[in-house]
Amino acid sequence: MVTSLQNRIYFDCNATTPILEESCRAAICSMQRVYGNPSSTHMAGAEAKLILERSRTYASRVLNVSPNEIFFTSGATEAIQISVLSLLQSLTKKNIKLNENNERKILIASTEHKAVLSAVEHWCHVLKLNLPIVVIEVNSGGIINYDQLKFYAKDAFFLCTMAVNNETGVIHNLKKIESIIREQSHHIYWLVDCVQALGKIELDFKKLSVDYATFSAHKIHAPKGIGFLFLREGAPRCPLIVGGGQEQGVRSGTENLPGIAALGVILEMLNDRKNGKIVHSIRTEQELQSFRDIIVNALKKAFPTIEFNADFKETVATTINFSIFGLSSRELMNVFDAAGISVSGGSACNSKSVNHSHVLTAMKLPEWKLNSAIRLSFGFATTKDEINAGAEAILSAGKALRNSCINLTCNIENNSFDSLSLQDEIHGVFQISSHNANTWVLIDNNSKTCLIVDPTQDSIERVVNIVKCRKLNVCAILDTHSHADHESSRKEIFNSLQLNDNAIDYLGWPNNEDLLKFSSQQWIVKRISTPGHTLDSMAYLVYNLSENKAPIFAFTGDTILSSGLGRTDFGISGIKQFYETLHLLDKIFDNKTIICPAHDYDNSFATLWGFERKNNNLLAKALNTYNFMALEEFCNEKKFIDSQIALTSQQGQIICGLINTSSLDYKKIPIVDLETLLKENYYIIDIREKAESLLFKDWNVIGLEKRPMNIPKSQIVNLIIDLIHDNKSLIKEKIALVCSTGNRSLFIAKSLRRMGFDCVWSLNGGFAYSRLKDDEQGF
Ligand code: PLP
Repeated sequence: MVTSLQNRIYFDCNATTPILEESCRAAICSMQRVYGNPSSTHMAGAEAKLILERSRTYASRVLNVSPNEIFFTSGATEAIQISVLSLLQSLTKKNIKLNENNERKILIASTEHKAVLSAVEHWCHVLKLNLPIVVIEVNSGGIINYDQLKFYAKDAFFLCTMAVNNETGVIHNLKKIESIIREQSHHIYWLVDCVQALGKIELDFKKLSVDYATFSAHKIHAPKGIGFLFLREGAPRCPLIVGGGQEQGVRSGTENLPGIAALGVILEMLNDRKNGKIVHSIRTEQELQSFRDIIVNALKKAFPTIEFNADFKETVATTINFSIFGLSSRELMNVFDAAGISVSGGSACNSKSVNHSHVLTAMKLPEWKLNSAIRLSFGFATTKDEINAGAEAILSAGKALRNSCINLTCNIENNSFDSLSLQDEIHGVFQISSHNANTWVLIDNNSKTCLIVDPTQDSIERVVNIVKCRKLNVCAILDTHSHADHESSRKEIFNSLQLNDNAIDYLGWPNNEDLLKFSSQQWIVKRISTPGHTLDSMAYLVYNLSENKAPIFAFTGDTILSSGLGRTDFGISGIKQFYETLHLLDKIFDNKTIICPAHDYDNSFATLWGFERKNNNLLAKALNTYNFMALEEFCNEKKFIDSQIALTSQQGQIICGLINTSSLDYKKIPIVDLETLLKENYYIIDIREKAESLLFKDWNVIGLEKRPMNIPKSQIVNLIIDLIHDNKSLIKEKIALVCSTGNRSLFIAKSLRRMGFDCVWSLNGGFAYSRLKDDEQGF
């Protein structure tokens, strides 16, 4: 197998596969030697035509159809467009009446690839066809609802189903689907997306009345940019691209011969010439299942609470979709990546929202499974050595998560894996973010005491693990106010830790206490009433006992957000009180006070009072001593801002304040390339989570022999404290934050820059770019 990331284990084969050596050779040969144009009438052209037609023949044999029914395309997405366009365009030509309403429904299974639904919507729109699109449901196992299919098949014009699902590996019973739709008196055209099925299950279109089927080479260990369409003789056809009339006029344009040659090699392997029969897969079903067993055993050992999201009896052996309670897809992907395994997250998280997989959503899986889903997929050419190495790496990921107090259920013997060292102890502020809400844990490692602020439901497991694993005493669990958008999990945490919560008020403050002291005497925590966002809002102020100054940081709930203010239009808000609260805070805080808000809508993590006072528009105006903003004026402007919040609603979530995004504009994106980083001797800080840092071994790719300082993203407030108080003389250094792909480090670098720390940079592209040698980057 050809892979540039030699020491990585690639388990994301449903996204794309590494290319087989033989396939590469065929492409190179086509580029260097058989480079003629198959349409040319000289010998060079004839040679190329031979390759083209040979590949077509192999494709037709695998599917048991005629070579005339195979059309090469740039991939499955294009093949899907041709199929959908052909069908819809045929409707505009004929006046087919199927029922009394003259309705011709398009049926699409809810777990189809986005390319199918988008194509149907797009071409209906372009052709001005107002056809009803019916989405056929699936059950919790991903199996199509046959009753619904039967019901709608009566007046369906065409049906799109897939043979194997790309996210779950669920195999659709095409025979059963066929029997349902062929019961109808009229013909229903049937498009089957076979991208994930080729090379894994039998596809015999002599036995199955599929009209259109789509295929992609890069999912079967051949290159990207090539695929093919099976279009049954007699089914409507309409070209998407016209020109030279290649591919019987269905797909004009000079054929991608290197791609076709490379694909042909794989298709040839699926034609078991020795026995004169099609093998459907390069490995036997038993072999692939035994590979799956190895992976599944390792996963169960490393993560005993794992749940698999589809029944193995219904899936191809090469796809394993799972969720682990208490761990998000992003966290799991990051830790697998650091262990050297590439897998795919079942949900895509961006800076603003979490997009759950539409497939798992259609299966109505519980929210926690959607948040935590991972798809691990290997290919039919993945070797046993790779599977074994992958299983080892999974075990090390499980151990690293245990050693960093996250995966407490992991009980793998032989703990040969690196444990936490003293530098990995947490002392300071720990941030757990989920759906934009922050849970804060203040840990005093000297006295083994912690304070928990604004615990969300999503953070329960994590908080409980931190407390148990690090053997911390909980001095209090506090809420800054009654939250509108989520329930506090104070009770659940008390219960899980078997702590008594009697002697506290309803926001968690211990009765008869004016302040909370950590026994090591480092910090004291005071509370002040900050009514406004809600009338019961409190701020918890943390002071350094050795200094009698302003608080070093403050948990301000939703009163102050980074570049925003908490909304004041709830029934339990008080806008006038809010104005007074801002003035009160200004008397207490100094410019260096770090604000730890209850929400983080823009990946700022935390902010500084000095920055907000100057740049947070309304706050700056309200506190401006030279150009005083009167209460009435403040209220009017605040009401207007709050009225805008409904317009920026995020997927039905209640938003607790509006962000003034203009203050997030950057003059320059703070990135540094590896060459500059090495030449100018940047101070490197790894901002990945502890488990990732423990697992990672390739420090040499950024010129280091051992782990540099690790300040995980979840503890970034401690870096802000170091920078602002110049604790480690960092401020004089040029600091490069590093992570796996450069995304997380860039968010942090931007946030720190925003607060005025111009010495901070992010390593562009992270370890991913750095490990690619120049020739691999194509320069
Ligand atoms: N259909 C399925 C099921 C897929 O998994 C993919 C690729 O992700 C496609 C269609 C699109 O294939 P291509 O990348 O060749 O356009």
